[in-house]
Amino acid sequence: LVEIKELHKSFGDNHVLRGIDFKVAQGEVVCVIGPSGSGKSTLLRCVNLLEVPSSGTVLVAGEDLTDPDGNIDAARRHIGMVFQSFNLFPHHTAISNCMLAQQTVLKRGKKDARKVAAENLDRVGLTDKHDAYPAKLSGGQQQRVAIARALSMEPNLMLFDEPTSALDPELVGEVLTVMRRLAEEGMTMLVVTHEMAFAREVADRVVFMDGGVIVEQGTPDEVIGNPQEARTKEFLRRVL
Ligand code: ATP
Ligand code: MG
Repeated sequence: LVEIKELHKSFGDNHVLRGIDFKVAQGEVVCVIGPSGSGKSTLLRCVNLLEVPSSGTVLVAGEDLTDPDGNIDAARRHIGMVFQSFNLFPHHTAISNCMLAQQTVLKRGKKDARKVAAENLDRVGLTDKHDAYPAKLSGGQQQRVAIARALSMEPNLMLFDEPTSALDPELVGEVLTVMRRLAEEGMTMLVVTHEMAFAREVADRVVFMDGGVIVEQGTPDEVIGNPQEARTKEFLRRVL
């Protein structure tokens, strides 16, 4: 579903991504781990073109997102993204937050948008919060609205950038539970996370990044359980 080849990204003379190659197959859950500043967020942002790669190609569902003549908007429409900060519209209710992009981007009518939004809020366990404003919701509930909002666009790929790292510890679990369920339902997911237990349990593959390159990748048991590279071992020693 995703194929990245020789991806480089620089900000000025800061060469952040230094030749990234990897693939995510349909239905696969890939967790990206690595130290701060290693380029994890930049990689994720290149997958949906929030950042324009300096060179290399990013193919999503066969569509080359780096092709200037390609239909980037159409390709992007099928990619959902959830950030560390929830970015909900404060003056819209939970259900309205989940309806807006459906109406503007997908041109769905209000009735259909409301139905899809309601289904997805139920799916993330917020059946009783459809009409709540973000300020009345906990961080974990807000992040679940953000997930429901992304799902309402019916993506075939979900990107998560440290979705639980802004949450109080007691709220992390409810968000991970929703993500685990999505993975079980077969959603293709690319997840940047510091939650090693989650990566170990849910990921089909773990990618360890450092210094803008993929140092090591494999099954969770290989990369987290039995790392081969010195940099991976050192990182895990600090976070585990
Ligand atoms: P963290 O774990 O702290 O989130 P990360 O692995 O996600 O780190 P990135 O956010 O991808 O790291 O940043 C990698 C490097 O790119 C850093 O040196 C950062 O300063 C730089 N960088 C990221 N975004 C930009 C930007 N928009 N403009 C300039 N430099 C940037
Ligand atoms: Mg980051």
